[in-house]
Amino acid sequence: MNQVSAIPSTATAKINLLDLDRAGLRNFFQELGEKPYRAEQVMKWIYHGLEDDFGNMTDVGKALRTKLAAVCRIGPPATLMDKVATDGTRKWLLGMNHGNAIETVYIPEPTRGTLCVSSQIGCALNCRFCSTGAQGFNRNLSPGEIIGQVWVAAKYLGEATHQSRRITNVVMMGMGEPLANFDNVLVAMRLMRDDLGFGLAAKRVTLSTAGMVPLIDKLSAEIDVSLAVSLHAANDTLRTELMPINKRYPLAELLAACERWIARKPRTSITFEYTLMDGINDQPVHARELIKLMRAFPTCKVNLIPFNPFPGTQFKRSPASVIHAFQTLLINAGVLTMLRRTRGDDIDAACGQLAGQVVDRTRRSASLRSQREPQGVAHAL
Ligand code: SAH
Repeated sequence: MNQVSAIPSTATAKINLLDLDRAGLRNFFQELGEKPYRAEQVMKWIYHGLEDDFGNMTDVGKALRTKLAAVCRIGPPATLMDKVATDGTRKWLLGMNHGNAIETVYIPEPTRGTLCVSSQIGCALNCRFCSTGAQGFNRNLSPGEIIGQVWVAAKYLGEATHQSRRITNVVMMGMGEPLANFDNVLVAMRLMRDDLGFGLAAKRVTLSTAGMVPLIDKLSAEIDVSLAVSLHAANDTLRTELMPINKRYPLAELLAACERWIARKPRTSITFEYTLMDGINDQPVHARELIKLMRAFPTCKVNLIPFNPFPGTQFKRSPASVIHAFQTLLINAGVLTMLRRTRGDDIDAACGQLAGQVVDRTRRSASLRSQREPQGVAHAL
């Protein structure tokens, strides 16, 4: 958890209560000389009532409300854009500091509503097929900027007023590598899980990682959530070509960490994500490698994602017949395999299309643009 002092140094540096989980809030109230149970009262207002004005917290005494307004704030990110796709998928562009922006996507389905949340401004991992990677990296999001995405979406979806649960699942599958922003993501996920936060069960909060092996172990020790692992290739040569992180943590190490995860949480399973790219990783030989790999994970499932193109990419989506053949090979071999329907692609809200506005500090976007986009076509939102 981030250490945050209760007393801000200047009036403009008011503490954002969205940065604190329940333990942090209790500390904060204690430091203010208040009873820690006040933390729970205020949490309910923030996350159940979606209230951001202390003045409306009617069961909190007037003197305390005035004190709170003087030293802290409830500061969700500002909405710069709110777009709805023809299939109902909704995407918000949220403003961060210094001209950066990130994206959050809501995917409604008949029996559930999934919110796809970002963890970083850009991403440093540079997976070749991901538009966030091509944008370079700026910084980690704070806990408040992460949980604030859920707060903003819940507010737009009318959760507080309609007393309905529109967001039933949260997936950390937006922009960024969540494990690379471990501490802040952890605070935010605690708030997703907490009954006085968004109250989501462990199987409804999923963290997706490209495979930061030591942090997978750390995560399983810290919190009960679900794990998704971006695989995309079942052999090291191809995986390293697609995902440079595979050089640092090759498949054997990644899969050993997955086995440890399951050993610690015997009733959970892991979802292995596999984005199908035309002629790259979608051939029967690749399916057979994947089937072999999955033998060690009989309780786990594979989520096939048709590649979502973005300007400047060299990859193409596999044809429907190839996707079908790949899926059939897996299913016939007894591998539980889901095909993710592409949602929201008319508003660039599909997997790997989230780009936001990243003020790149790695210079990667410039060098990649010159390689990938000879005509200088930039990804316009
Ligand atoms: N960094 C994390 C989470 C973000 S991406 C991770 O790697 O898991 C969420 C999923 O979308 C990942 O499986 C990612 O590999 C996949 N993805 C990225 N770009 C894509 C694209 N262009 N088309 C389809 N899926 C993509």
